[in-house]
Amino acid sequence: MLKNSTPREIALLASLTIGGAILGLSLLLKVVLFSAVSWFAIGVMTVGATGFSYLVVLTYLDRYIYRKIKLIYKTIHSQKISTDIKKEGVDLDQPIIDDVEQEVEEWAENQQIKIQQYERFAEYRRRYVGDISHELKTPIFNIQGYLHTLLEGGYYDEKIAMSFLKKAAKNVDRLQTIVEDLGAISRLESGELILDTEVFDIKDLALEVLDEVDLKSKEMKIELGFKPGADTGFLVEADRESIRQVLVNLVTNSLKYGNPNGSTKIGFYDMDAYILCEVADNGIGIPEKHLPHVFDRFYRVDKSRSRQKGGSGLGLAIVKHILEAHQQTINVRSSPGLGSTFGITLAKA
Ligand code: ADP
Repeated sequence: MLKNSTPREIALLASLTIGGAILGLSLLLKVVLFSAVSWFAIGVMTVGATGFSYLVVLTYLDRYIYRKIKLIYKTIHSQKISTDIKKEGVDLDQPIIDDVEQEVEEWAENQQIKIQQYERFAEYRRRYVGDISHELKTPIFNIQGYLHTLLEGGYYDEKIAMSFLKKAAKNVDRLQTIVEDLGAISRLESGELILDTEVFDIKDLALEVLDEVDLKSKEMKIELGFKPGADTGFLVEADRESIRQVLVNLVTNSLKYGNPNGSTKIGFYDMDAYILCEVADNGIGIPEKHLPHVFDRFYRVDKSRSRQKGGSGLGLAIVKHILEAHQQTINVRSSPGLGSTFGITLAKA
């Protein structure tokens, strides 16, 4: 009951109780024991005791509560107690205990959230370091193996020397890709990517990207092109360089996981508020159970194919980060044997 009361109410209650007790005692003395105490004296005593106890209790509560509250505030707030609180002391007309209890509860909840965040972060770091060391281990072991074989005599066999040097060089390239992609991911995750948004034609950018990968697509005998309806331009507002990276990663993947004599087509769809840009291939496809994970860091459906093609397992994670930085989305539809379609949204200019 007292918890919701103000200090003034508590003091009033206490003083009325004391006054009542004194009145009761005096009446007992006068009526039962026929004492000579006058009614006037009883009245003065009762009123005096009530008033005095009211002041004493109020002063005590003010000091006591203030000291306790100061302690609580010192514990739950990292900053120094504000001079306002110091100057003003306790507001005697506020249910102060209730207020403090609420503040302490809020503080405890915030602490709990912070602890959970720290735990998640620690787990994330543990997994991150584990993933990186796992990823780096394979190419490093391979390079080590090739170099030792060469040193142990393979160097003198021209055929072995050339083949092993080429393999070692390929693994060095893979290391480089992993390190570069890790750099990109950490820049994105630390929020270092400052979007330099501009209005541009997404079709022009797609043409540049297709041109960039033209040689690779010819090597893999995969035809590149646009879907019907993509003949006009589509103006979007985004960071052009980041979106170039997105398209490069998606188109490169369509080649890496495409079939010889297959095709990769880019389509654009006007969706009122945004433009949907799709990269579709008729390659190996992705089984349904893997679809929710393909944007996870280092997740690979076909590990050996990804490694053989020099993949870092970070391409789609980078793509997702870039789109999230733009507050846009990415989705995938895929069927094994039929192919995959990755769709991204972009703000319409
Ligand atoms: P990687 O470097 O391994 O290509 P990504 O993050 O780009 O890493 O892709 C993750 C995984 O998703 C790939 O290893 C591959 O298994 C699958 N994947 C991505 N794009 C395609 C695609 N177009 N067709 C089939 N599988 C794909």
